[in-house]
Amino acid sequence: MSSLHPETRVVHLPRPTPETSTPISMPIYQTSGFVFDDPAVFADGMGRPDGAYVYGRLSNPTVRALEEAVAGLEGGVAAVATGSGMGAINAVLLGLLKSGDHVIAQSALYGATAQTLADLAERFGVEVTRVPEDDPAAVRAAVRPTTKLLYLETIANPMTQVADLPGMCAAAREAGILTVVDNTFASPILCRPIEHGADIVVHSVTKYLSGHTDVVGGIAVFASDEVYRRVWSYSVELGATADPFAAWLTLRGMQTLPLRMERHCANARVLATRLAGHPAVAAVHWPGLPSHPSHELAAKLLPDFGGVFSFDLAAGRPAGEAFMRNVRLALLAPSLGGVETLILHPATTSHRSVSAEGLAAAGIGEGTVRVAVGIEHAEDLWADFAQALDAI
Ligand SMILES: *Cc1c(COP(=O)(O)O)cnc(C)c1O
Repeated sequence: MSSLHPETRVVHLPRPTPETSTPISMPIYQTSGFVFDDPAVFADGMGRPDGAYVYGRLSNPTVRALEEAVAGLEGGVAAVATGSGMGAINAVLLGLLKSGDHVIAQSALYGATAQTLADLAERFGVEVTRVPEDDPAAVRAAVRPTTKLLYLETIANPMTQVADLPGMCAAAREAGILTVVDNTFASPILCRPIEHGADIVVHSVTKYLSGHTDVVGGIAVFASDEVYRRVWSYSVELGATADPFAAWLTLRGMQTLPLRMERHCANARVLATRLAGHPAVAAVHWPGLPSHPSHELAAKLLPDFGGVFSFDLAAGRPAGEAFMRNVRLALLAPSLGGVETLILHPATTSHRSVSAEGLAAAGIGEGTVRVAVGIEHAEDLWADFAQALDAI
């Protein structure tokens, strides 16, 4: 190498590989491709997820570390990490459906997922029936010969309905259709849908899994190797790939996921309970409260009730807007699952494309505020909420 010119030397930098010791922390493999000695090994890695690493859109060691970590937490056989939660959801839906197929989906769905299903219906003739999240009889009644998937969310946004996963998954299994569960709000710490009969679990990694409001990412976890390979192939075509740096940040964030979830849930309990007793508040929607329609089911299914809740201000929209202006510690911002407490107004932000009738049917009012509780001290959060309510 010493005979080479500087122009060549800076291109062909040394590539020492640490063969005698393993790094404690998973390194970031910030490379788009890999070098081979043997052309046969190169060729073999192209067509399958478990061959040699070849090219970054197919697989990457840092991304694989994340896939194995989340598959392990969820009790699946393998996972496909993607560039966003919607990337994972679309890789699953587009990878498994074709035109003329039928999907059964629960009524309360994350906005962009509902939009994806509407687009699939309009542009590709995929038919969709919506059913309540806790009604296995409605699933049985909706099944057709063309039905391929049942789509659920463990805890829905923003009214926090909890899906009857065992009952709904059993109805799907009887009909021979696959169940997909969006487990973003619960995280694998509160719920592992595969244990309740789900076939595929999807996450917006952007939220609790990464946990620090610095990553956009997604992942789909599979109970069956065959379904995993189908979706992996399609996600490679789609280009829904996760970035190694985002995967690395997520791995780092995930090491505190159990600790964070414990605090998110404990803080939500303090705020939800105290808000329910405040005269300016008409209702609080958190499955940990006995007044929530999902409370009984949630108590059976989950060890705790999550860090997201919403509440209705008795004085409607002006009060909601005043509250959002008055808070000082809580941040008015989209997303959830990070260490900071975030609030938003669903009617004008996350659910702005839903009609007035749709909002009413979902129970979302003009005065509804959604809270994604962070991991701050509960008394500081309550002091902030109390002063914001008092100043309305
Ligand atoms: C945020 C979110 C998504 C979408 O994830 P992105 O990472 O924003 O693409 C899907 N489902 C739920 C429940 C979410 O909260």
